[in-house]
Amino acid sequence: MKVYEKVYLILQELGGRASEGNIVDKYIEMFPDYDEAYTKTKTSSKSKIRGTINAEIVRNSLHKNIKLDKSKQPYEYYIDMDTIHKYIIVQPIGKTNTIKGFITNNSERWAESREYQKKWLQSLHSTVLFTKDKKVFAKGLITKLAVSDDDEYPLDYYYDLRLVDYIEYDKIIEYSEHKQGIFRHYELLEKEKSDRIFKYINLVEQEVYLDDIGADERFQHTLNDIVAIPSTKPIFAKNPIEQNGRRIFPRNLGYAKAAIERAAYKCEINQDHKSFISNSSQKQYVEAHHFIPLKFQDDFLYSLDVPANIVSLCPNCHRLIHFASFNEKKKILLHLFNKRKDFLQKYKIPITEEELYEIYNS
Ligand SMILES: [Zn+2]
Ligand SMILES: [Zn+2]
Repeated sequence: MKVYEKVYLILQELGGRASEGNIVDKYIEMFPDYDEAYTKTKTSSKSKIRGTINAEIVRNSLHKNIKLDKSKQPYEYYIDMDTIHKYIIVQPIGKTNTIKGFITNNSERWAESREYQKKWLQSLHSTVLFTKDKKVFAKGLITKLAVSDDDEYPLDYYYDLRLVDYIEYDKIIEYSEHKQGIFRHYELLEKEKSDRIFKYINLVEQEVYLDDIGADERFQHTLNDIVAIPSTKPIFAKNPIEQNGRRIFPRNLGYAKAAIERAAYKCEINQDHKSFISNSSQKQYVEAHHFIPLKFQDDFLYSLDVPANIVSLCPNCHRLIHFASFNEKKKILLHLFNKRKDFLQKYKIPITEEELYEIYNS
């Protein structure tokens, strides 16, 4: 490894910015074999290393991500954080590794061969997507790079691993404009492509398979982080999964957020209904209710999980619409039906007043 690459690693270790003195000390600590290249005595080694580091970096003007602050004496080095931020790495685990084996042996660390050194050096703080047989099964944020003494695979990167099942491999291929249609090796995608993929991952991550109560709770706790998804056209109905013998349709919390934003965090039964300020959103607390409940999805060709079918209700009205006697529900339902029927029509969710009553009276 070249001196300036080592400096890059050291800078990452030191948090992105360091003086010459810090770097030299860390250099000696991280690369104890330095003595072979320099003299044996510590003091003269230090000044030689300092001289070498400076010369190498200046001559190589420079390692792409290392910046030199010459206004400081002695010089300060730092990493331009923007250049190492927000990359996506796509890492197939190979033919011989199984997912189970991977989780046993690689839950913290992955080792790469020397040929990927350049990409590896830029991987800190990137997100890695592990793939097997055209399936993304795990993702991790890279927290540390380190060199090991393994001959074949000396380049380690460490991460916080999380198993995921919501990321579609084909989408990653599409957004990365990958020509072969398959990733064969360690691949660090450039920023523009990474940004596209991040956007996709963040949006699909908001898609959850939860019942009403579970979804409500997740929604309220994470409201501030949820990205509202604007929706402009009907979406085909999505497939449910089986959970404990029950069928559950996915819901994207981004649509629920769009719906309550649309209502300006007010109750759609009566704008004067007051609740309290939510700690998560710092807005008035309201709940998102699927006007035609998702469990009736089979009766519709188009998705019920769209803002057109989600209403913003104060907690009292929300409980009422679920638990009141039908006669009491009816007044609220008619009010909402009149407000929503055209909007629902636009999203190809046709429903009559009578059908609605039937749903809520069952
Ligand atoms: Zn509800
Ligand atoms: Zn209300």
